[in-house]
Amino acid sequence: MAFNTLYLTKAQYIEEKRRVAIEFSNSKAKRAKSFSFFSSFLLGKKVPLKELSKILCNYNPQKFKLKEKPYAFQVIASTFKDLKCLANLCLEAFGQRPFIVEPERQFLIERDWNYFDAFQFFHDKPVKSNAISFPDIKTEFSSDPLPLTFKHLLEHDATQATAFVKAMALSRILKIPIDSLPDNSFLEIETILENMFFKNGFPTEAHEFRIIQSIEKKYPISPGAVEMDFSELWPILITQPFYNLGVDSIDCDCCKPGTVFDRNILPNSSVNGIFLAEAVYFESIVKSYAEQFHTSQPLKENRDKLTREFCLNYTPVGPFRRGQEAELLLCDALQLCTNDKVKIMNESKLHWFCLKKESFISKELRRMNNSIVSLSERLLTIEKEALQEHMLFAQGKLSNDLDFVFNKAFIQALKLSYKGLPLHLTNQRSSFFQRRLAHSVETIQALTLHRFKTLVKENNGKLIRAEQASALVKTDQPMSLAKEFSKREKIPLVIAPAKKTCLGTH
Ligand SMILES: [Zn+2]
Repeated sequence: MAFNTLYLTKAQYIEEKRRVAIEFSNSKAKRAKSFSFFSSFLLGKKVPLKELSKILCNYNPQKFKLKEKPYAFQVIASTFKDLKCLANLCLEAFGQRPFIVEPERQFLIERDWNYFDAFQFFHDKPVKSNAISFPDIKTEFSSDPLPLTFKHLLEHDATQATAFVKAMALSRILKIPIDSLPDNSFLEIETILENMFFKNGFPTEAHEFRIIQSIEKKYPISPGAVEMDFSELWPILITQPFYNLGVDSIDCDCCKPGTVFDRNILPNSSVNGIFLAEAVYFESIVKSYAEQFHTSQPLKENRDKLTREFCLNYTPVGPFRRGQEAELLLCDALQLCTNDKVKIMNESKLHWFCLKKESFISKELRRMNNSIVSLSERLLTIEKEALQEHMLFAQGKLSNDLDFVFNKAFIQALKLSYKGLPLHLTNQRSSFFQRRLAHSVETIQALTLHRFKTLVKENNGKLIRAEQASALVKTDQPMSLAKEFSKREKIPLVIAPAKKTCLGTH
């Protein structure tokens, strides 16, 4: 980095001046610059504009502005204190407290700036560099420049050094100061979603940050079985050009499908079908549907008996008699159609995604993926060059290349969030949980795993069990299965044997 590179090291909102002060620094110099800033929150359009305006005017009308955005009303306040008071008024009047992002983070989101970004000044104007470099800054805990302190740490306590560089990367990704980072991956992804929703003008309601223990499910290890990791596939599959899922793209007004075979139909649609055979039981593609059917529908004892007698590892749906009409999940109905067990009569409740406008979740996920891919390629080139030049000493050289170390930590942290995001959208504990979106994501995952199961069977293997993130498969050719699946489904080759030995859940 050029000697006049400065790094974004601090952001502070100054209430009385209505400004955000940003500190740009390196180990030799410091430069402060402040920017006029008005914080805001977004409120869902469930509340009529007129009524909202009337309620907010009970507060000083000089202290706020109300703007109509495509998906929300934006309340911009004179100061952050005013903003909090206005949010309280909304809570009292409408029972919903809008979620408020800290002013510093709002400012960074607006400018697309991050902690530790590198800047050059041109005519007193900071210009952000796109490259990620290890910040040559001074910190409060040492009088030496950070690169020097970090190298010492790396020599004496590599684990702590790794944790520190990971925290720097996370601070950059979340736009949260390094000393205020959330302490678990659930809250990290929650923060990413807060940023995404705010940036794209979508309201969220305030939520309590709960302490959540992540539960790692332990299964017995099956000898000869391979765990295939699907987590990298989901963010690709739920985004364009495959599905276009998001809170703003499901069941849009502009692209309602005419038939169940339209390109944008979602597999969690439901249809009415007529059964063409006697005493039909079937395995639903979606486990949660089968469970719900089992608890809510009569003849539970018949299903229990069937499960026992045939040692089924799933809950069967049924029984249905010939000529019986029933509402079915579209993905199940299509499957039953191919076996001549059902004829689809008509739609019951269709779900679809927009073909015209890409959802912001799809856009943001693709943006994350582009960063991961381009950075990974760059690092791979550096690794290859180091290997050619230093051969056996290449790894040692690279671990001393702090830009390389920081970039690597950044990719790893970004990749974890990227892979975790689709699963997070199906997590009921998340403030961003929306049943319709979660159901679509889950059904697409289940359908994909079902197709994979069919392929495994065709290749004389066995799918022992499937979770959202992974599948345990008995096969001696995991990689060729993954390749064949990617070819068949026309999806990138991202499924691979996992490194862990047991299935973990988010
Ligand atoms: Zn549409």
